[in-house]
Amino acid sequence: MDPRREELRRKLAALGFDDVRFAVAAPLRREGLQAWLAAGLQGEMQWMERTAEKRLQPDLVLAGARSVIMLGVNYWPGKLPAGGATWARYALHEDYHDTIKPALAAAGRALEEIYGAGAGDYRYYVDTGPVLERSWAAQSGLGFVGKNSMLISRRHGNWLLLASILTRVELAPDEPVRKKSGDATIGLLCGKCTRCLDACPTRAFPRPGVVDARRCVSYQTIENKGVIPRDLRPGIGARVYGCDVCLEVCPWNRFAQAGRRMLLTARHELAQLTLAELLALTPERFAEVFRRTPIKRVKLAGLLRNACIVAGNAGDRSLLPQLVRLAGHELSLVRVHAVWAVRRLGGGHLLGAARAAEADPAVLEEYSAEVEVTASEVHEPNGGA
Ligand code: SF4
Repeated sequence: MDPRREELRRKLAALGFDDVRFAVAAPLRREGLQAWLAAGLQGEMQWMERTAEKRLQPDLVLAGARSVIMLGVNYWPGKLPAGGATWARYALHEDYHDTIKPALAAAGRALEEIYGAGAGDYRYYVDTGPVLERSWAAQSGLGFVGKNSMLISRRHGNWLLLASILTRVELAPDEPVRKKSGDATIGLLCGKCTRCLDACPTRAFPRPGVVDARRCVSYQTIENKGVIPRDLRPGIGARVYGCDVCLEVCPWNRFAQAGRRMLLTARHELAQLTLAELLALTPERFAEVFRRTPIKRVKLAGLLRNACIVAGNAGDRSLLPQLVRLAGHELSLVRVHAVWAVRRLGGGHLLGAARAAEADPAVLEEYSAEVEVTASEVHEPNGGA
């Protein structure tokens, strides 16, 4: 065995990566990705289509690529402080793209030192490149792809952020996860379990291992920049940014140990923001509170949109005055969801002035749509509405 490979593994682990594995950079099987794209399950994520060939053929990303180095960063935060809304756990950190990249640059330098590679002999990515990181992670034995379509590590459960380095350096591959019998690749170690499929609040899995992004709460609350389909809004529940349901129900998490968190900067206090605070966000406050976090991606309008949905689902009528105010917001994207939330809380009669001033067809349609009123009425504003 080449001792340099283990030296590289040790160095990368010392940089803060919680798992380091190697795979051969051969073309990937195309059936799964092609079928997913052909069915349109990627929603508006057109970049998936544009980069499909590159994703399947690492040689198109880096000519002469021989190996893929797969790196996992464990982000399990343990117990989070409670607030008025639920956030995807990864989002309660400074943007991991920014905090992991310096370590990837250092990993490249380790490749240069140990193997004499040149600066052009590798390329690194964290999440945003034309690299099917989950597939490479499975090939390298970092984990297996569960029925929830996520990479599941036997050491870290469902809580790994993935980064990759494509390189022209030839590295002996690690073994993929194997099962004693059968050749399934999806749900390899899931057995009869279907917890993630059953728990999905918007029924986003047409079959095991396949996510219909158009129904996925993560996609709708983060990637969708427009109106969230009305029929999906109740399923969003309290999730204001992303969704961890299909991750957190997975029994493989019981083997997860907390990571060293060397490449992460926690912002767990964000979980304590109340719904009232979210609905009151101004552009200045939004910029200040969410600076350097991935949440800034959805911009203030996206977060207000999501917060309106969560408020509508929360059954807390004390939020009605704030929602009525947002029904007059300057952006129609916010108004659509505020009107929905007010009506869902049974406050439609409070919308007279906003409706009289409304000219946008999408918002007007929201006034006449059928909306199921949430049952619980916890607080009454000013004696009831
Ligand atoms: Fe597999 Fe069950 Fe985990 Fe889903 S919840 S990924 S079915 S083990």
